[in-house]
Amino acid sequence: MKKIQMVDLISQYEQIKPEIDRAILSVVEKAQFINGPEVSSFQTELENYLNVKHVIPCANGTDALQIALMALGLKAGDEVITPSFTYIATTEVMALLGLKPVFVEVDSKTFCIEVEAIRSAITDKTKAIVPVHLYGQAADMEGIMKIANEYNLFVVEDNAQAIGAEYTFSDGVKKKTGTIGHIGCTSFFPSKNLGCFGDGGAMCTNDDELAQRIRMIANHGQSKRYYHDVVGCNSRLDSIQAAILRIKLNKLDEYNSARQKVAAAYNIEFADVSHITTPFIASNSTHVFHQYTLQLEGVNRDALQAFLAEKDIPSMIYYPVPAHRQKMFSAFGSNSLNLPVTDWLTDRVISLPIHTEMEDDQLKFITNEVKTFIQQQ
Ligand SMILES: *Cc1c(COP(=O)(O)O)cnc(C)c1O
Repeated sequence: MKKIQMVDLISQYEQIKPEIDRAILSVVEKAQFINGPEVSSFQTELENYLNVKHVIPCANGTDALQIALMALGLKAGDEVITPSFTYIATTEVMALLGLKPVFVEVDSKTFCIEVEAIRSAITDKTKAIVPVHLYGQAADMEGIMKIANEYNLFVVEDNAQAIGAEYTFSDGVKKKTGTIGHIGCTSFFPSKNLGCFGDGGAMCTNDDELAQRIRMIANHGQSKRYYHDVVGCNSRLDSIQAAILRIKLNKLDEYNSARQKVAAAYNIEFADVSHITTPFIASNSTHVFHQYTLQLEGVNRDALQAFLAEKDIPSMIYYPVPAHRQKMFSAFGSNSLNLPVTDWLTDRVISLPIHTEMEDDQLKFITNEVKTFIQQQ
């Protein structure tokens, strides 16, 4: 049996090596490392894939979130409602820009921001909502957009974990995650569902004006060369990464369905196992399983992780400390916030290996070992 990894990027590369190697070499031979045709082709191809008017590539997913918030023209002290149960990048950029992250609860089943919790957190300083499509499944975007319209708020989707997922509105209209709010942000970090061979990210929007602002901000606030109208930053996707992403974008649906197959196989193995809750699949979203995350009940999670590690089975806790409890935010007074669902999930979740090259014997081995441990409880 092949060594089990959370994400097996080497096996995936081996499947597409000739194509990838040729694409990288071609960029090197032309020495067009920044911008150029690979970046603009990738941009167009991603626009087509997502069915969105504008894609603006950038250096990483964190930059995408930061630039998106900068483009909204918010001012210091403005409040942004966001889940605490997320990766730190979502909320860190708010603090960096002098905005106030207002942490709210997530739904205990979908792990995504809870719509009623958003409503309760709205004040006259609230300017935006940043939902996160955690682990690969969409937040309740219909409910979120409804509140946003009601209170005139911006919505910036953190789509770093869910690229390719599709959300269905109650009238049957389907949209890709990241294209529903005013701006969608994603990451091409190597382990993401659409990953490059380094750092990368992108924003997307259907709003022409926002697209122009985003482009400007990502390029030193420049309107024309050496004329800088607003304070911006330097955030670019480089051409080698774009060339790699073009190849992998073609395979994204295939990659996501490979992940879905792994998740379905896990679900069957864990169906009747006590102490374990398998991932919930909402009826309004596909799930692209960036993570396969179980909820444990009455199980010593540290002991389970140690037991698995002894058998060379990696597992991860996403995330061991929710954002509102991070020291980073102590000055915001959020450490003492009462978010019981978030704390409860933080203590219960465990993510198992999932990736596009997972083999049956690996999955069987993992599930058998988990079950062996659970039976001792
Ligand atoms: C990965 C990730 C990011 C940040 O992306 P980087 O490319 O690492 O900067 C932001 N939000 C979420 C939810 C993520 O998973």
